[in-house]
Amino acid sequence: MTQQQQEDPYEGKVLVFQCRACFNIVGDSTFWVTSHRDLRTISLSRATQVEIIEQAIETSKAGVDEGCTYRIFRCAYDACHILLGRKYITTTASLDLMRDVWSFSADAVVTYIVGSAETPISEGLDCQAQIRRLYDVQMMVLQTKADTTEEIQRIDEEVQQIGRRLVSLEGLMKKYLQKEGARSEIQNNGVNHSEGQRHAWKAIQE
Ligand SMILES: [Zn+2]
Repeated sequence: MTQQQQEDPYEGKVLVFQCRACFNIVGDSTFWVTSHRDLRTISLSRATQVEIIEQAIETSKAGVDEGCTYRIFRCAYDACHILLGRKYITTTASLDLMRDVWSFSADAVVTYIVGSAETPISEGLDCQAQIRRLYDVQMMVLQTKADTTEEIQRIDEEVQQIGRRLVSLEGLMKKYLQKEGARSEIQNNGVNHSEGQRHAWKAIQE
């Protein structure tokens, strides 16, 4: 278990943390509390443009934070909302510093060193493009889900329509069969129902 309490890898420099997907500024190193190598987190006492959407309290099931409880927080930018990290509610003694602060996943943020005029650097394992791709996939899945729901609704309506048509066809069929039944009864009684012959028979009667 390793916790680099108060350890700043960019000593003397101010760092700005940005959401990896949309580059929204989410915090800076003036609020630095701690970082954790095993958890791959950067904890800040204050953050900006982040939000807790899901109120559910989760419990870590494995790893160094096993048994700790937390709420996840996300990027507050409207079109983004990617998961940025955890806000621990209860922790083990060794993770005390991480309680009630904003612990960003290192993979969810990019870091800009103030005064460097350099492209923000990635603390995470994956490249930025990968996160963007994941975000795109997430959007695609959501869209597919919406499309599928629409498709299911459309099919359901069609099935209902077919059902209604079947019912009316059944009615027509019943009427037809009743008529046919009556006709064959007449035929069986020796009466010919052919139109021409019926007219002829009527004419004879008159
Ligand atoms: Zn974002």
